[in-house]
Amino acid sequence: MLEEPTWPPTEATDPMESTSPPSRHPPQRRLPPWLRKTLPAGGELRRTADIVARSGVATVCQEAHCPNQGECWSRRTATFMILGDLCTRRCRFCAVATARPKAPDANEPEKLAEACAALGLRHVVITAVARDDLPDEGAGHFARCVETLRRHCPTATIEVLPADFHARRECIETLCQARPDVYNHNIETVERLTPIVRPQAKYHRSLEVPRIVKSLVPDMTTKSGLMIGLGETHDEILATLTDLRGAGCDMLTIGQYLQPSPAHAPVARYYEPAEFDALGATARELGFAQVAAGPFVRSSYHAAEDFDALATSG
Ligand code: SF4
Repeated sequence: MLEEPTWPPTEATDPMESTSPPSRHPPQRRLPPWLRKTLPAGGELRRTADIVARSGVATVCQEAHCPNQGECWSRRTATFMILGDLCTRRCRFCAVATARPKAPDANEPEKLAEACAALGLRHVVITAVARDDLPDEGAGHFARCVETLRRHCPTATIEVLPADFHARRECIETLCQARPDVYNHNIETVERLTPIVRPQAKYHRSLEVPRIVKSLVPDMTTKSGLMIGLGETHDEILATLTDLRGAGCDMLTIGQYLQPSPAHAPVARYYEPAEFDALGATARELGFAQVAAGPFVRSSYHAAEDFDALATSG
């Protein structure tokens, strides 16, 4: 009988071990039962890994040590991370490496589009490292990726998930002009914890992003995501959801924060699935058109299905 791998993977059970960089996963920690995940293995996962490896484009699935990698890659879904794999910011929740990044790869839009076509993605989520070193913070390169993807995959819907661009209207406008279907920017955590967890970000600056998007393109779908388990209170979560709705955010994801390594912010609390259900219901009452809330929910987790659900809800 095949051994069933679980998350977090040990070196011996990581299904990606022959195609991924050396594992930086922390040692196995005691997790509540609802966070112990059985990972599928097999041909589709391997085929996704091969396409990703050949593309030369980074994925947030790998760089952020996403717990859903086995499941998503087995479903031939991956989220590419453009503008390199080195970030100019050092968020305390994020496993993406911080260092001086290289110049953007001018061929990355083609590489990205070819990989998305090879995977047959019908809804493409593109994220990026923060590029505070570039005059336009990478907005022009991001827009070229969206435009190239449209040419290669004309029927695919496209969701962009950039950093905040310091809420610079001209950068956000550049990306909006490429007409993605969804403009996503994660608030990540509540106001009080933002300076601790995202020291180079600002809570109210992140709230400006959907506001600016809506002012530029009123019918653009906006989305944001919140991690919980960092020490926030229930009232602070409610205040964040209210602030996001007030900023014009249409779609929301809420997921459990998981510490990617002992050097990252510790988990203050594991929320139970029923608590996610209750938060999801509250968010819907606040007026979000589409909400995904659950322990393993991430911005791009089942993003195609969430976008479908938004379309059918009206
Ligand atoms: S949830 Fe997103 S980042 Fe995580 S494995 Fe799935 S596609 Fe990749």
